[in-house]
Amino acid sequence: MRFLITAGPTREPIDPVRYLSNRSSGKMGYAIAAAAIDAGHSVNLISGPVCLHPPPAAAVTSVSTSDEMFEAVHHNLKECDILVMCAAVADYRPSAVSKNKIKKQGKDFSLGLTATRDILRSLPERERQFLVVGFAAETTDLHANARKKLQDKNCDIIVANDVGSPESGMESDENEVTIFFREGETKEIPRQSKQKLAHELVNIFAKMCEKRLTKKL
Ligand code: C5P
Repeated sequence: MRFLITAGPTREPIDPVRYLSNRSSGKMGYAIAAAAIDAGHSVNLISGPVCLHPPPAAAVTSVSTSDEMFEAVHHNLKECDILVMCAAVADYRPSAVSKNKIKKQGKDFSLGLTATRDILRSLPERERQFLVVGFAAETTDLHANARKKLQDKNCDIIVANDVGSPESGMESDENEVTIFFREGETKEIPRQSKQKLAHELVNIFAKMCEKRLTKKL
């Protein structure tokens, strides 16, 4: 199968030397890319700025901003069976990018922000030829928020993790997740290395995609 995987953070420029970003390391997305290749799938990896080496067999597109990630996903969408939106895409970007470095000015400083384009929400809602997997990093009400995200973002699967605990989630080498399926079931995967977890996730995604394909035949 053909995996299209996004990973890492995005950077939203403020001026030539500053940007807004987040703590995503890209480890989970890169581990999923490696696990998919191990399982014999092809991988197209769209990566935000991270300090990791991609698996040599992956086709890689490097991006920086959420806009660039949006365009790259849409450009590669036709060639995929499973889209895994693992990237921590910024929800807001500065409303204007200053051409020059902004000077220090007084004690308070405010920055106008504008919502970025939501990549998951921009996907076709019906008759999709590919499986859509979203990720949810939550610090409160994991189940309720993940279920809402599954509906709002029209995903087939949401992989949710509690990023409030220091052993799980962002920057960590380990993770524990709850998987929410569109049909209503959930599956908890206990804490383990992101590599092991990635193998299990790839298995689940591939099986689910196969089930959908056989249903259509
Ligand atoms: O709303 P939130 O950012 O928590 O949603 C997380 C999910 O949505 C992730 O799968 C992420 O890749 C995706 N996302 C997106 N476009 C955005 C922001 C997030 O597709 N602009």
